[in-house]
Amino acid sequence: MYASLGLKPVINGVGVVTVLGGSIMPPEVVRAMEEASRYFVPLPEMEKKVGARIAELLHAPAAMVTCGAASAISVGTAACLSQGNAKKLRTLPGRDGIKYEVIQQKSHRSGYEHQMELCGAKIVTVETRAELEAAINDRTGMMFFLNKAENHGQIKAEEFVKIGKARGVPTMNDAASDAVPKERLWQYTKMGFDLVIFSGGKALRGPQTTGLLLGRQDLIEASLPAMSPFGGIGRGMKVGKEELAGVLAAVERYLKVDHAAEWKELEARVSHIRGALKNAKGITADRHIPEIANELPHVTVEWDEEKRGLAAQQVAEKLLAGDPPIHVQRPGKGKLLISVWMMRGDEPSIVGRRLRELLG
Ligand SMILES: *Cc1c(COP(=O)(O)O)cnc(C)c1O
Repeated sequence: MYASLGLKPVINGVGVVTVLGGSIMPPEVVRAMEEASRYFVPLPEMEKKVGARIAELLHAPAAMVTCGAASAISVGTAACLSQGNAKKLRTLPGRDGIKYEVIQQKSHRSGYEHQMELCGAKIVTVETRAELEAAINDRTGMMFFLNKAENHGQIKAEEFVKIGKARGVPTMNDAASDAVPKERLWQYTKMGFDLVIFSGGKALRGPQTTGLLLGRQDLIEASLPAMSPFGGIGRGMKVGKEELAGVLAAVERYLKVDHAAEWKELEARVSHIRGALKNAKGITADRHIPEIANELPHVTVEWDEEKRGLAAQQVAEKLLAGDPPIHVQRPGKGKLLISVWMMRGDEPSIVGRRLRELLG
């Protein structure tokens, strides 16, 4: 099918990213989608039932499935800004009578601000706790936290939640790519965030077009009518019966899967690639585990660009130009970051061999 479109599948050395297709759905997820595709059901009822089941599985007060994590940001924001008032929800992105200000720490800029702004939100940027306290006023509708920026901002998660509670402002935590280890799936709702977001198509390996919005019952109930099939700000954010069935199967699977065995497999892939570069002069290939997001074994390959007369960009381009094309990240000069997470079959050996050809 891909060949008939003139498309060549690539080796994914980047990880669970939307631009390369998210993740690979396991057979039980595909099976659930296929089963769901054969019948009609009232979609709003299914959305509620699946949400309730996911809430139970993830120890959240309530949950709903959204059209990707980005749409969870939008519908959650819509619920907070309109304070659960159905009439106000219909007026978005208008700001009349709406609590339209959303407070965010400067280091928590996520690139997903548009998802809030499309609801009429005005982002208010702060850096210190004093600035945050001073920024809260009658127009404040929500406080946004980017989970993976925890270590970069001055105000940490627990303190952020505490301030929100004390001042009566709902807090949202975007933890889209932070579902590893699995306890993270309930850690942030337990911490007291009013809304918590995960991607369905990243670590969970559900359909790429799904996301999870977890949190306070009243806010989830207010978020649901903001989305398809209800007419409103999120009518263009559709989740079908197949995706609902698929993401539920993905959550169920994720909670059962042997994560320790998966981890061991990733370690083996990392060792394999490092081994391939062992004798490459002037090259270091190290094991690396990122903080918070995608917290799994990766490989970093580093060298002195000047000494070698070879730029990381050139190597990345050569990897892309090969057959099959290999996608990796290039976080800086003389540096490649390789995720082995989404590699399949003998792809780690192919990547190791190609790197040795280019760098050995
Ligand atoms: C991936 C990601 C998103 C968007 O997720 P989708 O499921 O692709 O909509 C939002 N926020 C963060 C932090 C992410 O990593």
